[in-house]
Amino acid sequence: MQMKKYILALDEGTTSARAILFDKQANIISKAQHEIPQIYPRAGWVEQDPMDIYANQYAALTECIAKSGISADEIAGVGITNQRETVIIWDKNTGNPVYNAIVWQCKRTADICETLEKDGYGEYIRRTTGLRIDPYFSGTKIKWILDNVDGAREKAKAGELLAGTVDTWIIWKLTEGRVFVTDRTNASRTMLCDIHTGEWDKALLELLDIPKDMLPEIKSSSEIYGTFDCMGAELTISGIAGDQQSALFGQTCFTAGEAKNTYGTGCFLLAHTGETALESKQGLLTTVAAGEKGRAIEYALEGSVFVGGSVIRWLRDEMKLIHDAADSEYFARKVKSSEGVYFVPAFSGLGAPEWDMHAKGTIVGLTAGTGKNHIIRASLESVAYQTEDVLSAMNAEIELFYGKDNSKMISVLRVDGGASANSLLMQMQSDFSALTVQVSANSEATAQGVAFLAGLGVGFFESRAELKTLVSVKKSFEPQICEKERKELLDGWHRAVKACRKFSERENNL
Ligand code: ADP
Repeated sequence: MQMKKYILALDEGTTSARAILFDKQANIISKAQHEIPQIYPRAGWVEQDPMDIYANQYAALTECIAKSGISADEIAGVGITNQRETVIIWDKNTGNPVYNAIVWQCKRTADICETLEKDGYGEYIRRTTGLRIDPYFSGTKIKWILDNVDGAREKAKAGELLAGTVDTWIIWKLTEGRVFVTDRTNASRTMLCDIHTGEWDKALLELLDIPKDMLPEIKSSSEIYGTFDCMGAELTISGIAGDQQSALFGQTCFTAGEAKNTYGTGCFLLAHTGETALESKQGLLTTVAAGEKGRAIEYALEGSVFVGGSVIRWLRDEMKLIHDAADSEYFARKVKSSEGVYFVPAFSGLGAPEWDMHAKGTIVGLTAGTGKNHIIRASLESVAYQTEDVLSAMNAEIELFYGKDNSKMISVLRVDGGASANSLLMQMQSDFSALTVQVSANSEATAQGVAFLAGLGVGFFESRAELKTLVSVKKSFEPQICEKERKELLDGWHRAVKACRKFSERENNL
């Protein structure tokens, strides 16, 4: 019997399936990645082949172990983190999907959502699930498959179909149908789960006509769920979390007021709120934070920025202003400020706290002296301003609940994701939000989170306190502007957002 020295994280993202092997000090020993083909059957629809998801995840898993040179018996536990909200329905006898996976970005259920809204279910859904009614979440996607795939509803009623998010699908496949589970973080994104009890909500299942028997059992994010055979060893699955909650855990945000932002294509901000499910009055989402078996359910507030790092990609691919995303920092540093130029990159509307689906991108404040570097700088600033809007909405909710001067306000922001490598952007964030920004030494916060959960689940890691000792800060940013300057900059940004919304309002009326 080999000594168990490693934890394996499976990170099934939207564009690729990865596997990352960690040791006891949370060092990365080996990585493998396989791309997942995207399917766009028509405008606004996004699908993936569930077999592609599983096959690519399995390939990444075995490749990661094979190239590390370790033996599979040395792995103490396996954790799975995944793209959230994406759903798969399959036949429990054959293991074959009845339809492609409907991916979180897919907007095909917009009309189902409009009807729910019109019929007045918004308030019940917000109170029960912490979510706004939106095609983004899994529930209406499951309903769509049952309503639109020939024979699916009859088979579901006869108990022959299973439905799940990607974690559930992968675990069911790995265990050859023996284990049918999900965790609370994934369940909290389905718009079917009562986040206060951690159970499927009967009324919502009835409303969407989804038989409860086709849904998995909801468990904690860290416990032993089952085992599977792989490369001559029996591997134990002991961690599950949706990608954003996994990153929150990987950044060791465990108590109220600890927050992280992931700067990727979009930005995902989560702030831990302890055991309190803070209801948002400003359009933020209330979501379940990852936690171990036996603990009370913990929660987080979540807000996202639709266009984050992708505004930099747009400068590169569409405007051809830069060759590489990292060049944005070089050019933006060539000017001292954006000199009154503001860029509101509302390419697909504005998210929290504006929630204006009709807004279009707008650049304001141009003069004859405005050059390429100002536009690039204003683009980076837009990522930090949008994040600041979400952060201040979160702090406003926290203040509303706990009163002024409470210790649960966000004063440090831990960051990860591709664009967090941009030091100018991180300095802007610290300036605009008047808080400390900490870049973690480990760039793989998402995989690390579920590795931590899986490690705790099998006793490989002792406690959250031990995990805190395994993470370190690579770089830290403190505000360098005074409050007056900050107020002026934010005022300019908010006027730019207003101008952007005003323009779209007129467009919508035409
Ligand atoms: P995702 O996981 O969403 O695909 P990543 O975490 O890989 O995203 O981040 C990539 C995004 O970040 C891209 O949109 C890219 O334009 C942006 N990005 C990457 N590096 C930088 C940088 N140095 N400065 C600004 N933006 C960057």
